[in-house]
Amino acid sequence: MSSTPFLSVRDLHVHFSTEDGTVRAVDGLSFDVERGRTLGIVGESGSGKSVTNLAVLGLHHPEHTEISGEILLDGRDLLTVGERELEQLRGNKMSMIFQDALASLSPYHTIGRQIGETFRKHTGASRKEARERAVEMLTKVGIPQPDLRVDDYPHQFSGGMRQRAMIAMALVCDPELLIADEPTTALDVTVQAQIMDLLKDLQQETGTSIIFITHDLGVIADIADDVLVMYGGRCMERGTKKEVLSDPRHPYTLGLLGSMPTLDGPVDVPLSPIPGTPPSLLHPPGGCRFHPRCSFTEEVGGGRCATEQPVLELVDGRGSACHLSTEQRARCFADFAGIRPN
Ligand code: SF4
Repeated sequence: MSSTPFLSVRDLHVHFSTEDGTVRAVDGLSFDVERGRTLGIVGESGSGKSVTNLAVLGLHHPEHTEISGEILLDGRDLLTVGERELEQLRGNKMSMIFQDALASLSPYHTIGRQIGETFRKHTGASRKEARERAVEMLTKVGIPQPDLRVDDYPHQFSGGMRQRAMIAMALVCDPELLIADEPTTALDVTVQAQIMDLLKDLQQETGTSIIFITHDLGVIADIADDVLVMYGGRCMERGTKKEVLSDPRHPYTLGLLGSMPTLDGPVDVPLSPIPGTPPSLLHPPGGCRFHPRCSFTEEVGGGRCATEQPVLELVDGRGSACHLSTEQRARCFADFAGIRPN
């Protein structure tokens, strides 16, 4: 791994003020994204994945949001730059693909205009150049007859094609960081696989760093190099894809893996969903945020899980936030056979 990550997030806190109190959506999160690698951020809804990435892009409403920590993009702290510079960086250095392409594209403008305008805004290109660039990008993302389809409106594209157009728009200014927020969730599995292959190919070609947000460990197994497991606004586990998927160290990761069907596992073993629901971030549980749902609190003993927040200890980017000792974990996780990531 490179010693200077392209994106380095340090002790990030994102809190929202609401009428009912403060929502601690992200609480002390740190992670790195290396150049040319894909970090998969996985967790259930409400774990803080999307909030984290909107903070990286500077898209939270400043009036109701309190953000602290550091977000270093290529050495520059994004939390200290002005809105104008941030706007330049969004598009030029970093961009985002959202889950719902139909909601993210304007129904009133052609696909080509929308891709071209992003290009024009950041490069000052002429309309003609912008249109040529839009055709070039549609070609790159595999839209057939791009010189004709460039004049189509979003409703004339299929769901998969709209997502490809979104990718074209996100990549039109050659960003060095691409944030993809559940970009394939609304698509059927075949199109999902095509979109992920496309992202992998584009990354190979351009060396873009990618943050891929998902609730689906199967998607992580396909696309990620490194993995961050989030729960209740905190990091539970970090490591390479192989480390996290084949040798999990946190009960929450184990729970996610246990609730995921595999093709090469025994067919008679039922899936075991994690009991309970994610915590309220308005009144998060004390100690380990996962403790109300964890099956191993007795193993730790002394009520420690409910009162003492476990520290995330990392060695070479690998570690988990859990009070279980290595021996206790080996006992508790003994039945886990591991899954083989791609
Ligand atoms: Fe479970 Fe305790 Fe580890 Fe939290 S610290 S994951 S509650 S064993």
